[in-house]
Amino acid sequence: MAMTAFRPDIALRSDVLATVAQISSGVDATMVAAEVVNLKKIYNPSTPQAFQALENINLAIHANEFFTLLGPSGCGKTTLLRILGGFETMTDGVCRIFGQDVSHLPPEARPVNTVFQQYALFPHMTVRRNIAFGLEMLGRTRSEIDRTVERMLALVHMSDCADRKPDHLSGGQRQRVALARALAPQPKLLLLDEPLSALDLKLRQKMRLELKALQRETGITFIFVTHDQEEALAMSDRVAVLSEGHLQQVGTPEEIYEQPQSRFVADFIGESNLLAATVTRVDGGVAEFELAGLGSVLVNSTDHLSRGQQVTLSVRPERIALSRSNGQCRLGPATVFDRTYLGNAVEYHLRAGGYTFTVRSPRGGLRGLQDFAPGDTVQLEFEPNAARVLVS
Ligand code: ATP
Repeated sequence: MAMTAFRPDIALRSDVLATVAQISSGVDATMVAAEVVNLKKIYNPSTPQAFQALENINLAIHANEFFTLLGPSGCGKTTLLRILGGFETMTDGVCRIFGQDVSHLPPEARPVNTVFQQYALFPHMTVRRNIAFGLEMLGRTRSEIDRTVERMLALVHMSDCADRKPDHLSGGQRQRVALARALAPQPKLLLLDEPLSALDLKLRQKMRLELKALQRETGITFIFVTHDQEEALAMSDRVAVLSEGHLQQVGTPEEIYEQPQSRFVADFIGESNLLAATVTRVDGGVAEFELAGLGSVLVNSTDHLSRGQQVTLSVRPERIALSRSNGQCRLGPATVFDRTYLGNAVEYHLRAGGYTFTVRSPRGGLRGLQDFAPGDTVQLEFEPNAARVLVS
């Protein structure tokens, strides 16, 4: 069977580049591609089943962005995507696409296309016909359809499979056809509702790279929905984290991971030690915190803090160091109660006072790192820039 692996590293052919230029023409990266203002969604309003799925969402997605809506099941991300696509009505608010108020426009009148979780290709049609179908419905001329289909096939590296039917394709190939079909009418905005969830882990990881490359190459704004935080961090230019219908934080993957603004984000994205602490001293951009029964730590903070204030410190497991020594300015003593070997790291679980800690120590490196066993008594330490102060 001919391999048609999509190779983001290979330079695209000039006819494909022409398509890319055509797709992204007239779109300036400083434009706002999609915007919702004071968006509210109540399902079944005025009935006993009324349910508020989205509350006062304000969000601006830039042109050419790979933007991800991330959150746990039921947080409202699909509802928001469906509202952008015109498949769901809003209870209140405004929805704009490239500056145009589309709040009351049906899906077909929006410059938007959607790739759903189940890619729903027509099983009786070849790959080529599947891609052509939408263009035919739009009344494009035969020659334009043929030209666009060839270019789309090349763009997703499926030219060799053009005459096969979907049940003769792998899951990843089917997903690429679904993408080609969605890209063919040259939407300015592509909405993707968990498009990788039907694929196995290996293929999903591969398709992440392909999707990211496709977005960069076409310049089309992608709005991607997932509950998988690893997927969101790996692919996105920016991520919006949602919880129970509320927007928790919008930022680059680094900002979301390194500077979570709430307990929810610190806990949902990666892992965090969330430590109750009391402010004991504030000195410029550094504050001192007491951890009950454990000692005090210094943390960089620009928040307005006052002495005696109760806060939560969020510290990632990989930012805490363990040592046997009884040096000053460290937290402890802590007792290791579990050690898990992870290959490239060792994860320790520790108890110290009323706190439990998770610490991940990398393996290897030039200096051999100390290893610990359950029952060992150790000290904990982290740099002032390793913790986030969460005041809410
Ligand atoms: P998932 O990851 O499970 O798909 P999600 O974050 O995409 O979840 P939504 O599908 O947007 O969540 O649903 C948000 C909330 O609105 C959920 O509590 C859901 O039960 C509710 N909901 C969704 N559709 C309807 C509907 N048609 N009628 C009533 N409630 C609904």
